[in-house]
Formats: sequence, C-alpha cells, structure tokens
Amino acid sequence: MHMQLPDPASTRRPAAVPYKRIATEEAFAPPEMLDIYRRMFDAPDVDPGFKGLMGFYMSSPSDRAQHIMRCLTDLDALRLQHMDEAGIAMQVLALTSPGVQFMDTATAVSFARIANDFLADAIRRHPTRLAGMLAVAPQDPVAAAKEIERGVTQLGIHSVIINSHTQGEYLSDPKFWDIFAAAEANDAPIYLHPNSLPANMLQPFQEAGLDGAVYGFGVETGLHALRIITAGVFDRFPKLRMVIGHMGEALPFWAYRLDYMHRATVKSQRYASVKPIRMQPSDYLKQHFYVTNSGVAWEPAVKFTQDFMGMDRVLYAMDYPYQHAVDEVGMMDNMALSAEDKKRFFQTNAETLFKIKA
Ligand code: MN
Repeated sequence: MHMQLPDPASTRRPAAVPYKRIATEEAFAPPEMLDIYRRMFDAPDVDPGFKGLMGFYMSSPSDRAQHIMRCLTDLDALRLQHMDEAGIAMQVLALTSPGVQFMDTATAVSFARIANDFLADAIRRHPTRLAGMLAVAPQDPVAAAKEIERGVTQLGIHSVIINSHTQGEYLSDPKFWDIFAAAEANDAPIYLHPNSLPANMLQPFQEAGLDGAVYGFGVETGLHALRIITAGVFDRFPKLRMVIGHMGEALPFWAYRLDYMHRATVKSQRYASVKPIRMQPSDYLKQHFYVTNSGVAWEPAVKFTQDFMGMDRVLYAMDYPYQHAVDEVGMMDNMALSAEDKKRFFQTNAETLFKIKA
C-alpha cells in the first residue's frame, strides 16, 4: 500500500470537535533563564551541543527563530491566541530544553525552583488553559527529589520534565535514583524530553546537520529510555512511570529486535553492564511508558503506536512553539478512530496522566 505523507505547508484551521484538545509537550522559557544562558555561552568550556542549539535560536534573525523566542517567553495573550487559533484547549507546559541541565549545580537547583514558581503563577492566571511539569536539577539528585515533593504537594504540579542526558550523564546511573524514588513516591510521571547531543556523540550527526529534532534528538532520547529500562530501573521502582514524545522516539517500532537482541546479549554475558531484568524491554515500554505524538502528525504512526502501547497510553502533543503547525491538529482530528478513542488520545489520557481536573 502506498502511504502518502501529509503536506506540512497547508494551513487549514481545525473544526469544532466534541473533545478538549490537550497538547502535552509544550515549551516555555522564563526570560531570566535566557539571561543565564547568554552568560553561559561566553564560558570557554560551554557545551558545544547546547551552544549550537540554544545559541542559534537565541541569536538567529530568521523568522522561525524569532517566532520561537517570542512564543517561548509568553505565557499569556500571545500563547492563548495561538492556542485558540489551533483549537488547543489546554497546554501541558515544560521548561524548554535543556532547562537547567547545563547550569552549574547551585544555579540549576535554585533556578529549577524559580522556574517552577514562575510556571505555577502562570497556571494560576490561566487555570483552565495551562497545566505543567516540574523542572528539576539532576546535577543534585537529593535536591531534585525534594523539588519533586515540593512541586507536587505545594504547587499542585503532578509530573516532571527531564531533558535527557545531564552533561553527558544518564539516569541509568544509580547515583540519580533518588529522583526516581521521589517520582514514584509522589506518583509523578517523568517526561523524558530530548536535549542537544552530548559532546561525545555530536560530531557525526552535526557534520550532516542531523543532530537536532530532525533525527539526533530521537536517537539520543531513545537511547536514554533504553538505558533506563536495561539498567533495571523499573524492577527497582515498579510504580515509576515515564513519558516519551515524538511517537516514542521510534522505540515501539524497534520493539521486536530490542527484545530478541537484548535476550541474546544477556545470555552471551558479553557485557558486564548487561544484567538480566525481570521482563523484556518491550514489556517495560508497554507497562511503564506513555507516548506522545509531538512532532509526528502522521496517522499510520499513531495507529501503530496505539496498537503496540494500548489506547490509554498514547497522547496528543504539538511541541509548540518548535512545531507550531495549526493544520496538523485537523489532520489528527481526521484520523479514522472511534469517537471514544479520539477523546482518549486528545483529552482523557492527558487528564489522567497529568492529573488535570476536567
Ligand atoms: Mn519538545
């Protein structure tokens, strides 16, 4: 069967629908964070992936970059206007990547709190339109754990955003597991969002211009999710839940081979780092992960992922303002799904996962 890719240039406005569209991977940036970034770009040891990505968006005169910077810092009139134009009832906001994860530890810990208070204020101003996720500083896992507890109990924000690796380090390292313990104890799912590629992974992607959202993000974030699975994190934290965007960073499509080859690798005892885990990699994906379609408004991919993960585990996301594509909303509205399943995809799965009061 020939599958046609949708035309991303069309600008049709979405029609009225019998469900609320909740977009679940939408970005913001307090202006103060951008000031911190500007100072970081000048440091001689600045991470090249971070500077290449955020340095570009923050300094490029291109329409796309200017639009993104304007939208990131607005949590009021402009954002609500864009949501209205796209038919988005609610955004679940996350501090834009890389958040605090390249800052020095003290700055990261204190700015995560500031960002979460800034977000909570915006949600208070627009309680029916905005929800959010908590930023934390993995650089200090104990402080991150405390901030999860504070955010859930005092700010009423019930999920966490982590932008993949933290200065080249992965959450599969047990030194970070206080974060998982706090997320599990506070019933707060962790959204594992892309970051720029770590320095030791950057070159072969960057020389081909494939390091960003086009491909590199998905490779690195998918790798991170797999490292968490194969390190036995979910055997240690059986109630921990995570979310991955961009159609599961292609992991559902990989599931068969992951299971087969992980089993073979464990059996071969080739790597000291590969120890037996209780289930197959695909079982952890299905039982511990939720997937959003951020940036992938493509019906066959959504349907495959729903088939693999289950109808209750696939959620709508736009990835505003990086992928501010109004016509994609209508494309998702028009998917051949029952009315009930469409409401799950756009609304009720998000209400349940992020504890949004209807
Ligand atoms: Mn995103």
